[in-house]
This record gives sequence, structure tokens and C-alpha cells, in this order.
Amino acid sequence: MPISSALVCVRCGARYPTDHFAQDCPACRTIGAPANLTVAYNSVPGDGFARDEAARRPASMWRWEAFLPASASEAVSLGEGNTPLLPAPALGLGDVWIKDESRNPTWSFKDRLASAALTMARRFGARVIASSSSGNAGAAAAAYAAKAGLPCVVFTFLGASPPLMAQMRAYGAMVVVVEDKADRWRLQTAGVRELGWYPTSAFFGPVVGSNPYGMEGYKTIAFEIAEALDWQVPDWCVLPVCYGDALFGMWKGFEELKALGWIDRTPRLVAAEVSGSIAAAMASGEPMPPDRPRNAPSIATSIGASQGTVQALEVLRRSGGAAVTIEDDELARWVVTLGAREGIWAEPSSVAPFAAIERLRASGVIAADDRAVALLTASGLKDTSVIETALPPAPVVRGGLPDVMKALHGVYGFTDG
Ligand SMILES: [Zn+2]
Repeated sequence: MPISSALVCVRCGARYPTDHFAQDCPACRTIGAPANLTVAYNSVPGDGFARDEAARRPASMWRWEAFLPASASEAVSLGEGNTPLLPAPALGLGDVWIKDESRNPTWSFKDRLASAALTMARRFGARVIASSSSGNAGAAAAAYAAKAGLPCVVFTFLGASPPLMAQMRAYGAMVVVVEDKADRWRLQTAGVRELGWYPTSAFFGPVVGSNPYGMEGYKTIAFEIAEALDWQVPDWCVLPVCYGDALFGMWKGFEELKALGWIDRTPRLVAAEVSGSIAAAMASGEPMPPDRPRNAPSIATSIGASQGTVQALEVLRRSGGAAVTIEDDELARWVVTLGAREGIWAEPSSVAPFAAIERLRASGVIAADDRAVALLTASGLKDTSVIETALPPAPVVRGGLPDVMKALHGVYGFTDG
């Protein structure tokens, strides 16, 4: 595995020591575009590693240790990664594949981040893990902290999704509820600065992204996609985007494969967002996505932030990508469509890529014969609200088969024979 030699600003390239994982780039902050740091290595990641060797290694994202900041033998792992890439012909969206991250240990893509972040937490001698998340990031941090044998504090707020709250508590995390969302960051910042708590999530604003070591885990999504397609990369990768951690990580992963000559080009990346913040910056050319508060919260709670990040914007610009702003009615429709046609139940945020692909195919940005991969970030069990509101309640039937047939016809429009 390569040795991390510095943390580097994702925007300006300034270098910082390897233990500056709890801060952003001061240089970019002074010009109003605070930017995350990313891991730089003292050798080319993957150099000397044979492309086909990863397939023979034990099943987890750590079979790509040649690209990661720690070795498989020291990893805090629950068998994350190795998720399937499934063709989705029944969606009517053309050549579309689904990278189904709901198959991860805590049923979301955040396990890749948590596995890499907790592995490095042990390396840095962290005593306490801290996360500000009402969602998948908090659940993943809790599970991997448990696996690492470290206490974990998760700051959340009143009104968080009940299944996610239960999930964090089930992994033994010390969940703290605050009344005002903004207090989560204030309190976690105090824990990090005053007590040395190790942050896995974003915890100050404007947000720059998550723990740089954790983000290295997202590179493995790119590796798995390229491997599954026999090293023929898709034309487009489309992601639900909040702060753009996975967007940046996947882009970095594809760039590393291209540098090794394993692939001959990199895909264009698309951010499917609900605020319109990144799309506004793409249009204006500004270095920092603007704050775009909504009148009402989106049903896509996992990507509900009102302001995008510099790291997400940089990836779209460098990859020739695009940002698409998605509405709630599209999300609800795609949750139902995906479940009924492809047998995959996703949380509302996770279907944003399908709505984005639908629009970009219609506008011709994604050409009719282009191949697109949609990143499906988390399971529908995380948030069941769409199913409860978008579909009719199941009928209660008394009597015999004629009554069943009557109910099937009346509620579902189904006629047999
Ligand atoms: Zn910078």
C-alpha cells in the first residue's frame, strides 16, 4: 500500500501535514471558497499491482489496498464494498446500470467511508469517534466504531428518521439529540478542538466534505465499476449529491486507474441534487456554490443540504459533467418505479440519479447510446415514508377468492383471466 505523505487541497493543491484531517484549506477559505483536503501519497497508488489480482483477494473493498492509506490486515472491516453492478433495462432509460450500494453492511455507501476513516482513527490513536449525522453517515460511523472497539458520539436532531435512529443505537453509539440543527456542528467542533475527538463527518460550515481518509474508501466504487465492465468505463456516472464525498472519491479513483493505464478515459460525472446550489455555480462560474435554501425540506433527507461544496463543483468542471436539480415528485415516482420494475427498494435520495438520467437523455446531454451508471446509495428501509404515501394501502379482505379478485381489481387494477 502507498504511504500517505500529505493532505492536499482539492482546489488549489496547497499541501498540509497528514494529521490535518479535521480542517479545510485556509488559503481557499480566505477567498470565500473553503475546500476539503485529500490524501496524497509518496508513490503512485496501485503501482506494481496487477489489474486482475484484486479479483483473487478476500471480498471487501480492502482488496484494493494498493490504492488505500492502510493495509487490509489492519482494516476495520465489516465486508464493505463488492456491491453488484446490475443492468436496469426495465426502467426505459436506455443503457443504464445500477451500482447497488444498499448491499453494504449498514445498507448504505457510507460504510466505505466509515471503514477507511475508522481504520485511520486507530492509526492516529483516536479515543472517541464523533459524527454529526441524522442519517446513513451516523449509522455507518456507529457500526464501524463498534467494530473498532471505540466509543462513538453521534449528534442528531429532533425529527430524524426513526429507523436510522434505531440503527445508530443498535450499534451502541451514544446518540445525542439537539433541538437546533446548527448546534450539532458547534458541539462536535468543541469535542474535536477541546477533547481531540476524531471526526468522520462534516462538522463546520460552510461544509467542505468529510474526513479525507474516509473519502479514500469511495475510490473503490470506481475500481469495482471499471472491473465489472471489464475495464471499459461508462460514459457517465450519476450520483445523488449532498457534499459530494462519493463524487470526489469516485472521480479520484477513475483518475488513478487512468494514470496507471488500466482504463483509457474517465467518465463524466453528474450531480443529482435537490437544492440547485451546484447547478447555479456551474452556470455562473463562481468558485463556491451559493446557499440555496428551500421553502420546505425535500423528501430526499440524505441530500437535503442547501449549499454544495467546492469538491463537488471541481469534479463536475474537471470531468465535463453536469448538475441536475431534482424535485420531490420525481423522487417519489422513481422510488415506486425502481421497486416495481427492477426489484430494488431505494431510499428517496438514492433514486435522484434516475430522474437526472431521464432529464439528460431527453435534453440530449446524455446521448441515446451513451452508457450511464447510477449510484444507488442506500436502502429503502432507511426511510419508508414514500411507500406509505405514494402507494394505496393494502386492502383487508374478508370472504373467499371472489372477494380477493375484487380487491385486486379495485385497488391494483389487476384482472387475471
Ligand atoms: Zn486550497
